[in-house]
Amino acid sequence: MLSRLFREACPVCKKTLTAKSMPAGAVTKYCQDGHYQKEFHPSMETYVETTKHETFSSIQAK
Ligand SMILES: [Zn+2]
Repeated sequence: MLSRLFREACPVCKKTLTAKSMPAGAVTKYCQDGHYQKEFHPSMETYVETTKHETFSSIQAK
């Protein structure tokens, strides 16, 4: 359902992201190694991506 909005694998290490439900209907998916995190906020129809590795910028451009 949210798969189109979320990368399902870490862009750095390619591990499957862990999903966690947040208050107010938000969902966070993150790499267990801390490379990447994405928060989706349905109420605001937006999401926030966080990465700690510059490799991500090249992937985002696709
Ligand atoms: Zn990772």
